[in-house]
Amino acid sequence: MSTETAVKYVTEIPEEEVKRVAEWINTEEYKEKNFARQALVINPAHTCQPLGAELAAHAFEGTLPFVHGSQGCASYYRSTLNRHFREPAPAVSDAMTEDGAVFGGQNNLHEALENAYALYKPKMMAIFTSCMPEIIGDDLTAFIKNARQKGHIPQDFPAPFANTPSFNGSHIHGYDAMLLSILQTLTEGKQLEGRCTGKLNLIAGFDCNTGNYREYKRILKEFGIPYTFLADISDVFDSPLDGTYRIYPGGTKLEDAADSINGKVTMTLGPYATPKTFGWIKDNYSGKHVSMPAPFGVEKTDAFLMKLSELFGKPVPESLKAERGRAVDAMTDAHQYMHGKKFAVYGDPDYLLGYISFLLEMGAKPYHILCSKGTKKVEKDIQALLDSSPYGTDGKIYINKDLWHLRSLVMTDPVDGVIGDTHAKFITRDAKIPLFRFGFPIFDRVNLHRYPLIGYQGVINMVTAICNKFIDITDDTCDERHFEMMR
Ligand code: SF4
Repeated sequence: MSTETAVKYVTEIPEEEVKRVAEWINTEEYKEKNFARQALVINPAHTCQPLGAELAAHAFEGTLPFVHGSQGCASYYRSTLNRHFREPAPAVSDAMTEDGAVFGGQNNLHEALENAYALYKPKMMAIFTSCMPEIIGDDLTAFIKNARQKGHIPQDFPAPFANTPSFNGSHIHGYDAMLLSILQTLTEGKQLEGRCTGKLNLIAGFDCNTGNYREYKRILKEFGIPYTFLADISDVFDSPLDGTYRIYPGGTKLEDAADSINGKVTMTLGPYATPKTFGWIKDNYSGKHVSMPAPFGVEKTDAFLMKLSELFGKPVPESLKAERGRAVDAMTDAHQYMHGKKFAVYGDPDYLLGYISFLLEMGAKPYHILCSKGTKKVEKDIQALLDSSPYGTDGKIYINKDLWHLRSLVMTDPVDGVIGDTHAKFITRDAKIPLFRFGFPIFDRVNLHRYPLIGYQGVINMVTAICNKFIDITDDTCDERHFEMMR
């Protein structure tokens, strides 16, 4: 007797119809209909605001991220971070349900604050919202004030909070809102007349590559520049496995963050992920304020190092000059595998501008450029970058489009590869082209967040990953006569 269970479909679709539609969605005709789509997003290339807020919260010493809202939403942010880093992402939620949605979430918030404070003994709780309390208009300012008055948390306990409604903005906006609130809370009353820490306050923005943080630190160490990393996730999401679980394994020291208001220089390298934070810093922090693009590629890394040199009166170290030479050598050795190749690229604006700079330097063509939460300014900045190189001439920018749009683009006007995150794997499988996973989140490969993409080392890593993949494809697809030892 057969053990197989027969499945009876509710709607039977003939095989020829499935085949016809599968082919039709690859056509120009379908692309036109797809781009006429207004009220539906399919496979967005961004996550929601609170996820960004949670990342910022994790990046401070002893800090417990606290979600005011639904348990399911909290699980989503945690599991997304957890799957990307393959590390725990401990956070709590006050688990609002139907009664909270009707009567407001103050009771949930108060009970959860008291429990979380007693159980997890944090030095700070960073509170942010999911969609539900935002829709009903919960007043966090009043709720937290009441929590202190009623003794749920001590009067002086740091509890920064941010409204992070996901129906507006994306993870980078949530990151910005939470970071701003944390810095405002910690630095309150800490500015001292005449005090200068002599340090650089470095802000990387929403960056889920722990290797990038370590690379920034290494560069600063080579220079001998003292620094405070404002929002440092490197040890939090890349902690050693030694048999002991630590709920708070790293992060920027609260004391250092508080004193950052007296810094010598504050620099953001993620201008699109920190506009509100940096705007507030410009008005409130001592010292100089510098906003620069993330140092992807040689030119942007040169600019970063020269800016450090100028600001701190120190020459660019010989060791970094030698690294630059090695990066240029790696690019030259490998340029023939990338030169003239077309790429589809998508991601957050700060990363996207970085990918494009790097591709143009390699003589590759950023061809379909998609930003699923962008502004006119992002578009203008990308266009200016494309205009700076002959390899940018054919690049077309698509703002506020999703990955289903990108699929239509790639299927009707092919490229050689896609740079993005795990979500594009369906597109690249259909198009039979490689996916270079440099963004966030990366769920389906291991350890990539440990390989820096910024600085000269980042250049070498990107060149190596991309060119070797193209060489693999040549080896896998060439005929016997052309299967060579040398490539
Ligand atoms: S978009 Fe809103 S409802 Fe969905 S996971 Fe994010 S916060 Fe929750």
